[in-house]
Amino acid sequence: MAGRADYLAALGIENWQQRQALRIAHAPAAVAAIAAAGAAPDLPAQISNESWDKVAAEVAGCIKCELHLCRNRTVFGVGDRAAQWLVVGEAPGADEDQQGEPFVGRAGGLLNSMLRGIGLAREQVFIANVLKCRPPGNRDPKPEEVAQCLPYLERQIALLRPRIMLAVGRIAAQNLLATDTPIGKLRGQVHAFGAARIPLVVTYHPAYLLRSPTEKRKAWEDLKFARRVAGGLAT
Ligand code: URA
Repeated sequence: MAGRADYLAALGIENWQQRQALRIAHAPAAVAAIAAAGAAPDLPAQISNESWDKVAAEVAGCIKCELHLCRNRTVFGVGDRAAQWLVVGEAPGADEDQQGEPFVGRAGGLLNSMLRGIGLAREQVFIANVLKCRPPGNRDPKPEEVAQCLPYLERQIALLRPRIMLAVGRIAAQNLLATDTPIGKLRGQVHAFGAARIPLVVTYHPAYLLRSPTEKRKAWEDLKFARRVAGGLAT
């Protein structure tokens, strides 16, 4: 099994040394406020007829938008259905569309390494996307596609009730937070997702990091930040 150094090497930070932490002056206050407001870990159990299998069956047969016409497989999400971490990406790519599983291509390999770097195995988290079907040519999701598909993710979130959400990439971050703020400005803060005010941290998409490896260092800061947020709420 590969050691931590191998994962850090995959992130391009094998010579990484502790630098000044991200300037996240408001983060501790935000964490406290979210915890005080009743974040996910403190929510009472929801009484619901909803089940994972019901949502999965609906996704598998979904024809709510035109993407069903060109998909090979829907991509529901994968991982531990009792996970504390929910990782949310944009949409399936070609590999994911073939295999029916999110983040299985090159970007998925890097995502696995990023998670490993903070001590998480892929199997320990739940991974899903904003869209369950691949947009042709990997174009950006259309607003009407997001509008039809996001409720599936929201139902998954209600079932999972994660301790922390990690939005990877601009599309995931902006759609989950209903904002058009650039990703660079969304990083380094604890956001609150939905009525349950689930702590949400934003980082760059692994596909972007493969194209722009010099940004990997920032992503590494984001992951360590997310780990601190999750850890702080756990105590
Ligand atoms: N990119 C994503 O955002 N999600 C995937 O599942 C694969 C690539």
